[in-house]
Parts: sequence; structure tokens; C-alpha cells
Amino acid sequence: MKDRSRRERILELLKEEGEKTPKELAATFGVSLMTIYRDIKELEREGLIERKHGTVKLKENDAPPKECFICHKDVDGRQNFIFFLRSGKKLQTCCPHCGLMAFDRLEEEPEAVLTKDFITSNPVNALDGWYVVGAKVAPCCSPSAFAFADRETARMFAKGFGGKVLSLSEAVKEIKRLMSAGVRVELKL
Ligand SMILES: [Zn+2]
Ligand SMILES: [Zn+2]
Repeated sequence: MKDRSRRERILELLKEEGEKTPKELAATFGVSLMTIYRDIKELEREGLIERKHGTVKLKENDAPPKECFICHKDVDGRQNFIFFLRSGKKLQTCCPHCGLMAFDRLEEEPEAVLTKDFITSNPVNALDGWYVVGAKVAPCCSPSAFAFADRETARMFAKGFGGKVLSLSEAVKEIKRLMSAGVRVELKL
């Protein structure tokens, strides 16, 4: 397992099960204590976890609210967007649809925005991600949007399920266009 994805999983585990000792973490992930200490140090440096009485836990108030701040659905974390704001506040959305919609509604500029690749679940810098908007399938919000780490995977997905392959700024425009198109149709009824 790559360092990055193991660290992501350490954070998930601490979120779900509370505090753990480094030994427990090493056993869970089948790696040496030295490797776990390296992960802990890095996550501590990023301000995501803290050490207390020989255990490791998520930093207080670190976990973003469990609710999508755009549509208020519960976030299951599989396709979420997390906005790290300059004030230290974190916000998340249920899926890339709401993630793209969120860019216009933030009160502060985000310092970083993370999402996950739809196929691999690896973390993706949302600003550099590729998106398929308006595909025929919508596992969460509609019109749907899917995030990918690279353009090629996004293209293959769009070949099968339709939708447009777009960069972040194009995807933000496209989702708004589809939403307002949807509103117009409703008004005609
Ligand atoms: Zn949402
Ligand atoms: Zn959603």
C-alpha cells in the first residue's frame, strides 16, 4: 500500500474507532512500527492527528461535519469533497455534484480541496482533478458529477456512461448550466 493511501486509512480508522496505539496501527496495517511512526509524524505535521498518553487520535474538531453543507445529505465519505478553509474550518459535500456547486458558495477561499477518484478511491486534489458531468448514472445527486485523478480514466468512464469530460473550472460551469437548464424545464410545466 502506498504511504498516502495508508495515511488516509489511518485517518478513517481513527475517525471510526477513536484512539489507537501505534502498535495497534502497525498490526492493523501489517507494517513495522517504524513505518507507522513515520505516518504519525507526517499526519501530526499536517495537523490532522495528535498524540496523547501513548495513543494517537484525530485532532479535536478535526473531523468535518458529517453533513453535506450544500444539500444536507449525510456524507458517506466515498465520493466526498473536503474544503480546508484558511480559518482552519472544514466543510464537506456528499459528492462531486455538490462539491462543484460549492465553489461559488464558500465564504472564505479554500486552502485545499480534496476529493476521491471514483474508481480507485485514492485522494485527489480537486483543483487538478478531471470530472465527468451529466453522465447517465447518478449514485448521489443529479445531474451527476464524478471525479477522477486523470483525464484518461474520465474519458473511459464517459465512453460507457455518457457525460462530458471537463477540468474543474469547466465542470463548475457545466454543472451550473445543467442546473439552470433543469430549473427552466420545471418552470415550463
Ligand atoms: Zn450534497
Ligand atoms: Zn450528492
